[in-house]
Amino acid sequence: MELVNKKLPLVAISSCLTGQAVRYDGLHKFTPLLIHSLAQKVRLLPVCPETAIGLSVPRNKIQLTYQQDQVKVLDTADLTCDLTDLLRDYALDFIKEHKLSGLVLQEKSPSCGVNNCKLFNIHGQKIGYHSGVFAATIIKTQPQLPICCAIDLQHDLTKIEFIKKIQSYAQYNT
Ligand code: SF4
Repeated sequence: MELVNKKLPLVAISSCLTGQAVRYDGLHKFTPLLIHSLAQKVRLLPVCPETAIGLSVPRNKIQLTYQQDQVKVLDTADLTCDLTDLLRDYALDFIKEHKLSGLVLQEKSPSCGVNNCKLFNIHGQKIGYHSGVFAATIIKTQPQLPICCAIDLQHDLTKIEFIKKIQSYAQYNT
């Protein structure tokens, strides 16, 4: 579902930030002020990679796990359940399908987080931070695309700067 004015740059946004109750715990992360100010300048396209690959609401918690020299997304209740390829393939299809000029994503998510999701080893010990697989795939595939976490857009100045980046990207790339 796209929201408002088709002439504005298209920006994907984590669905939970728009108020959709799609999180693993059945809740959302609605950020009305951010949504309202972005919607004046860009066209918002909500996306939830986890429900898009078929996970239910609610669902088991998933986590980034470093295994066999790779960052994987595993189900915390069943570490043999590996969702990495599904999330990566969905990210590739998603950016192919939509002419995006930016992304605004939920922080700390093993799918959507940008550099701020906890990374664990196979023994469940925290060993650092990494981007979620959906975000990491898009960053790797389209490194110039403006992308950030909603939490980084709390201040007016950073929001204005980010919107300028989106507009400039849209002007030269779409
Ligand atoms: S952070 Fe991303 S994957 Fe998780 S509920 Fe929100 S939109 Fe879905």
